[in-house]
Amino acid sequence: MKEECGVFGIVGSGGAAALSYLGLYSLQHRGQESSGIITSDGESMYEHKAMGLVSEVFTEEILKGLKGDIAIGHNRYSTTGMSRLVNAQPFMVNCKIGKIAIAHNGNLINAAFLRAGMEKKGSIFRSGMDSEVILHLIAKSRKKNITEMIIDALRQVEGSYSAVFLLEDRVIAARDPHGFRPLCIGKLDDSVVFASESCAFDILEAEYTGEVAPGEICIATRDRFESIQFSEPADPLSKCIFEYIYFSRPDSRVFGENVDKVRRKIGRRLSQESPVDADMVISVPDSSNTIALGYANQSGIPFELGLIRNHYVGRTFIQPEQAARDWDIRIKFNPVRGVLEGRRIIVVDDSIVRGSTMKKLVAMLRGAGASEIHLRIGSPLITHSCYFGIDTPTTGELIASRYSLEEIRDFLEVESLAYISLEGLRSCVKEREDYCVACFSGDYPLCGEAVERGERGCQGCGGGNRSGFGE
Ligand code: SF4
Repeated sequence: MKEECGVFGIVGSGGAAALSYLGLYSLQHRGQESSGIITSDGESMYEHKAMGLVSEVFTEEILKGLKGDIAIGHNRYSTTGMSRLVNAQPFMVNCKIGKIAIAHNGNLINAAFLRAGMEKKGSIFRSGMDSEVILHLIAKSRKKNITEMIIDALRQVEGSYSAVFLLEDRVIAARDPHGFRPLCIGKLDDSVVFASESCAFDILEAEYTGEVAPGEICIATRDRFESIQFSEPADPLSKCIFEYIYFSRPDSRVFGENVDKVRRKIGRRLSQESPVDADMVISVPDSSNTIALGYANQSGIPFELGLIRNHYVGRTFIQPEQAARDWDIRIKFNPVRGVLEGRRIIVVDDSIVRGSTMKKLVAMLRGAGASEIHLRIGSPLITHSCYFGIDTPTTGELIASRYSLEEIRDFLEVESLAYISLEGLRSCVKEREDYCVACFSGDYPLCGEAVERGERGCQGCGGGNRSGFGE
């Protein structure tokens, strides 16, 4: 599983670009391919985006040039559209209402269908992104004002979106009726702030005040905040449960709950469901740290740091002939031989996707002297691809879609292997029916509705084709 995207928006604060930069810094884990900020001073809009990390994309000089007290920002991990600058966000167009920009986290499953229809009628698209479809729909809308035009566009798209729009005098934030992705609201003095996760507020010392509700649109200007429920929230909702397992930072609050708390519960439940006698619990850092702590606390087996993660990997180019065996995993993790040698270890990780990385990791831990390796996984078996904004391999590439638990254990060469049960995972969150669990169950919350209307954009229930275009 790969990260998705991080969005940020702020209204009414001098130096909006610098504040957006800090917010995006905190959201870096949600996307590392490109980053961008667009600002407005009420008269003009200023834009900068480039490929790379937030720290690589912006300089002091660039931020100074992004004038104004209103801004939106975006960190991208591509789920549709290739990893190219043309697909970097925020994405801005000039249309009959003037300039409008979007920063979008999610994936529209009927985007290809809608795009094909518009192209037939002569629309010209500049990018391969599904997000551009929303801007085209806004530009074509016959509604009278911008809020109604955005609502009109959103009512035509299917899928997941937590999005912020920038206009000269406002930021508009919207979340799909299923609530797949989080979108938090905060307050910084008299300014309104929006962000994918609340950790972006902490760095600004902004106060978390809540979330944009599923099916809600929030309009923030310098002196006004208005909210409209543009669609009934789906019943049940489909909040992505993987936000708690892996995507969100543990210090964030998303979907109204503290991520760290939920992760610890997952670890405790995993220990209750699949106990094993061992000398220590180690995590695969960083996302599994809190799940492993929960497991250790519940089992009474000490938590140790048996794997060290290199945080400064960035982009690495190694010629095949120079590469040590399994260099890709060795460059990221190093086992602590003094901790592991001769010990029976429980290794806690958040998920297993293809299984190839885990196999290398197990071999590395064995090479460092671990005498027994018991693997415990904080998600159920991932058997289906995601179509709602997370980059997963096709269903056929997922190891759990092809092999039984015992076959996976055998392939990974571990003494024991256990995953948390779906019921166990659900018991760790409040309002347990309001979560999407499609990648474990194949029970997709949305495709069926789109198919019925002849808007099929993905083959999630059977085919495993991506819903994107332009790739
Ligand atoms: Fe999240 Fe899985 Fe649902 Fe995708 S399919 S939204 S990763 S729970």
